[in-house]
Amino acid sequence: MLREHTCGELTIDNVGAETTICGWVQKSRDLGGMTFIDVRDRYGITQIVFNMEVDEGLCKEARGLGREFVIKVSGKVVERSNKNPNMATGDIEILAEKLEVLSLSKTPPFLIEDETDGGEELRMQYRYLDLRRGPVKKNIELRHRVLKVTRDLLDAVGFLEIETPYLIKSTPEGARDFVVPSRMNQGQFYALPQSPQTFKQLFMVGGFDKYFQIVRCFRDEDLRADRQPEFTQIDCEMSFVEQDDVLSTFESFMKLLFKDILNIDLVDFQRITYDEAINTYGSDKPDIRFEMKITDVTKVAQGKGFNVFDESELVVAINASGCAGYSRKQLDALTDFVRTPQIGATGMVYVKYNDDGTVKSSVDKFYSEEDLREWANVCGAEAGDLLLLLSGPKQSTLAAMGELRLKIGGELGFRESGTFAPLWVLDFPLLEKDIETDQWHAMHHPFTSPKKEDIEFMESDPGRVRANAYDMVINGIELGGGSIRIHERGLQDQMFKLLGFTKEEAEEQFGFLLNAFEYGAPPHGGIAFGFDRLVALLGGSESIREYIAFPKNNAGRDVMLDAPSAISKEQKKELGL
Ligand code: ASP
Repeated sequence: MLREHTCGELTIDNVGAETTICGWVQKSRDLGGMTFIDVRDRYGITQIVFNMEVDEGLCKEARGLGREFVIKVSGKVVERSNKNPNMATGDIEILAEKLEVLSLSKTPPFLIEDETDGGEELRMQYRYLDLRRGPVKKNIELRHRVLKVTRDLLDAVGFLEIETPYLIKSTPEGARDFVVPSRMNQGQFYALPQSPQTFKQLFMVGGFDKYFQIVRCFRDEDLRADRQPEFTQIDCEMSFVEQDDVLSTFESFMKLLFKDILNIDLVDFQRITYDEAINTYGSDKPDIRFEMKITDVTKVAQGKGFNVFDESELVVAINASGCAGYSRKQLDALTDFVRTPQIGATGMVYVKYNDDGTVKSSVDKFYSEEDLREWANVCGAEAGDLLLLLSGPKQSTLAAMGELRLKIGGELGFRESGTFAPLWVLDFPLLEKDIETDQWHAMHHPFTSPKKEDIEFMESDPGRVRANAYDMVINGIELGGGSIRIHERGLQDQMFKLLGFTKEEAEEQFGFLLNAFEYGAPPHGGIAFGFDRLVALLGGSESIREYIAFPKNNAGRDVMLDAPSAISKEQKKELGL
């Protein structure tokens, strides 16, 4: 090695030793007779001191060092007179005796400090410089640890990590495929896997009863802060299990992971049904760090001459406890919020139950104080509380209320990082209808099994069929989801038919799986976790980009590589494009 120590390991115990370290110049300070250089590597920062009196030439050389030069310094470890308790190496410095510049550096385009002046786009363009910054490095280290602990935990309970191919045929997870043209089979394309779903099911047929893989998945869909076109899953599947077995296996896994990584004991996961989640929290991934449940007030709010409510399918309320003091401005801001196109409500009604016992609402014209007190009763509101009401079509109103609930919860400080409220959401509908095409789609994916007792409705009333499907949710983040699968050819055929596949189409796309089911498929089920999201949650952030070494931007571009990009005429020709 060119170095004897890293920049993070010298302490008072090393005083007197001769050593050599290597690293990047973080900063230099020139104090007349002395020049101080901070040298940084992955492990920390060490201060080097160059003394005019000891070696004038060397000191002058040190003054010529620019930020981010790569240097090798040898010298003696000495105790600092001016100690820095905030640094691991803050008790010592190295009295330089030899200096070698290993690499020059241009002035970096942004400050390589914990707090930088670089915007995200610039940092991504120079991600290799961004990676030198402390917080980014910490995120990447965390990711590594979560990868390692995940593998250890799953290995310990008998899961085998088995890889699956990337150049495949489409797997339906509800997004568009990224496709790769085949040179050897002109005019034909591979699809990159949206997930290894069908492969892991084939592993079950193949007798590997506990499979996992930390695997890249590719989905061509519109991007948001917590989405990337390629992302990583912890993909798992088990044979001879029922839903409860999968839930308990992965609840234990998650508890052990949180214990290992954060030293936090997660509480037992709540279990609620999809319907309950939607009706009480307006979301299938509720943040249950706080209550503020949604109450259906349709009955008490209708019939008093307020048209907006009278003509609505649903009127719902949340009780913002202790918020009666909200100002006009705060209430206007909330109204503006619910009216934004993303939330889509037409307006918001409020009722303040003031501390002095008076009641004030935006609908005083239509409702007597008695009426409004009745609302309070239904919603459990007391003096000092603020009731917020939305109305409209059932689904969209609940969704809008769910968003408003999160917004208020955030404002009231209920959504701070550091606490974790895990739950399972169960009994998802098997199917959802695309209103535009009037076609049923699998809510999870086409391999998810319906509940036994609902199979009889698959033909007559598909919308009411519930699936053996579940999501793991922590703090309003869908960390993972899975299902017990169909393992009988007949039922799988029926499912494809419901989804609008002809026999031929099903055979053409999924013949391999349907055939496999004819050779002794064990009952099986599994789950996949969004690994990037999991690491971000453990790291206390919502942006998965911060935990991916080379992420893509919101337009799906890698701004460092400048990809995607055009390919040459020759390449196109070769591919028959
Ligand atoms: N393949 C599914 C997904 O990617 C997860 C599963 O059902 O196991 O969401």
